[in-house]
Amino acid sequence: MQKQSRHINSYKPSARGEVSLQNNYPFRLNFYLEPPSNEISVEEFETFALDRLQVLKALESATIRNKPPAEVKQLLDKACHDYLPLDSNARNKQEQRRKDHVSHFILRLAYCRSEELRSWFLRQECALFRHRFEIEATNDKQAFLGSLNFSWSIVSPAHKQEILEELERCSGWAERCSGWAPSMQSVKQTVEKEIFFEVDFERVPDLVSRRAVYLRRGKAYVPMSEQISLVIEEFRKHLAKALEVTARALPRMDEDQRLLPVLTNINKQCMDNTYNSGGKGIAGKIGADDVDSLVHHFPPCMRHLHTQLREDKHLRHGGRMQYGLFLKGIGLTMDEALVFWRKAFSKITDDAFAKSYAYNVRHNYGQEGKRTDYTPYSCSKIIMSNAPSTGDHHGCPFRHFSAQNTEQMLLRYRVAPAAVREVMELVQGKHYQIACTKFFELTRPKEGVEGEGNPAQVENISHPNKFFEMSFSPTS
Ligand code: SF4
Repeated sequence: MQKQSRHINSYKPSARGEVSLQNNYPFRLNFYLEPPSNEISVEEFETFALDRLQVLKALESATIRNKPPAEVKQLLDKACHDYLPLDSNARNKQEQRRKDHVSHFILRLAYCRSEELRSWFLRQECALFRHRFEIEATNDKQAFLGSLNFSWSIVSPAHKQEILEELERCSGWAERCSGWAPSMQSVKQTVEKEIFFEVDFERVPDLVSRRAVYLRRGKAYVPMSEQISLVIEEFRKHLAKALEVTARALPRMDEDQRLLPVLTNINKQCMDNTYNSGGKGIAGKIGADDVDSLVHHFPPCMRHLHTQLREDKHLRHGGRMQYGLFLKGIGLTMDEALVFWRKAFSKITDDAFAKSYAYNVRHNYGQEGKRTDYTPYSCSKIIMSNAPSTGDHHGCPFRHFSAQNTEQMLLRYRVAPAAVREVMELVQGKHYQIACTKFFELTRPKEGVEGEGNPAQVENISHPNKFFEMSFSPTS
């Protein structure tokens, strides 16, 4: 492919004209009002999108798991640091901001195709913006908002005087509801110093539902301290409209053969990440006889396969593939794999094993047939393809077990009954990988902290080998 065709400049220059990269991003925060206008390579197009998606998925997972705000923040900080850093002091801060800008617009293209996708993207992007807004320094925040020219009207001193009593009555309402009543004196002082904005009440639904603002004749009087609600509502409104406009423009993009496959596969690729242990298993090279001692680090799907293998002295093809490649991923060499499976299938003769099973083992290691070096299955592959039928033991317990069997499995693995309910709610909501992540947290206490009630905090489980890696090496 010629170099030129590896670059995409599908966006028209903005109405404000082309701007050099150095001047493009004065702030870390971004309302994404203008699409990027400079070139981007196809490789960047894909990696930027996948990196942003990792952050949005981490955010979704933390929210679904009902994490307390402090833990959501911690998880999100980590995901942002790993995939989408925005460091004011970094030498490449303009590059970081460009990646944030470009990746947002790529996902906008990928997630504008249906109502469901749009609403998912909108939810996650609003939450990400809120997180960034909350941690931004006050000066930078105000400078950023100043650049946006919002048409909020500030309540004049005369008007404020007119409604002072009502403002005082509404102020401190949230604290009073939570059982802490500020003194009237402190309320008066706060209201006196506070700046209020007058906005249409529909623009601040969360403040109205919390009874945190004074309402009169269709207007809400929002104190500066609640400004974030106004900003988020503006962000949400703008993005919702932009997603619809993008959806209408999308058919024109379908002609671009470079982008379409990337856009349609972004979600699948993010879920279907291949596991790379850097050429060797995390546990180093392991022998056939080491497997039993490592089973307590295995995820439920592999533990189940191991148990059935020991019980039946046999596994059918689907189970051998799923478990065999997992063991390969944790460091079982081909020679040791042959020993392991030979010993495990103890009811059959050497001859029968050599004829019917040894080929498959060598095949998995790329030593037979097309000589493909197969990689272990990801969670999404296990969950979405090749459902097990009677007599099969492959698959994901959270997806393929009955509710009763899943509950029994959780209790067997010493998950407390109250926590079992939490995991089962996730299963019922079809959040299988998040249920597995919750299971990991419940069964692996934080490093250095014993017992339940101090669950570890982990990124979303997306691969059985990642589960093993995190359990085997808690610092990984
Ligand atoms: S979510 Fe993934 S790792 Fe967990 S049990 Fe299912 S397939 Fe295995």
